[in-house]
Amino acid sequence: MPAERKALPVIDPARCTGCGWCVAVCPPHVLSLEVKAWRKTSLLHDEAGCTGCAKCAVKCPFGAITMHRQATPVVR
Ligand code: SF4
Ligand code: SF4
Repeated sequence: MPAERKALPVIDPARCTGCGWCVAVCPPHVLSLEVKAWRKTSLLHDEAGCTGCAKCAVKCPFGAITMHRQATPVVR
């Protein structure tokens, strides 16, 4: 099985406003809004399902998402 490194979105909860744009734009629907400490923030609930396309990071109007390459290769 081929091994590859992929980048995953890392969401900065301090910058995230809970607007939901990233959730709407994610093709495999692996992002969701989570209510924590009375505020909504985006959450990657399915790392394995994320394709690393970075559409969420491009779409976020608040610069809350950065793509980080996995430290270890992901086998899919
Ligand atoms: S688009 Fe950005 S600010 Fe909006 S919910 Fe997603 S991470 Fe948060
Ligand atoms: S990188 Fe692509 S697949 Fe992964 S959470 Fe963002 S929009 Fe969804």
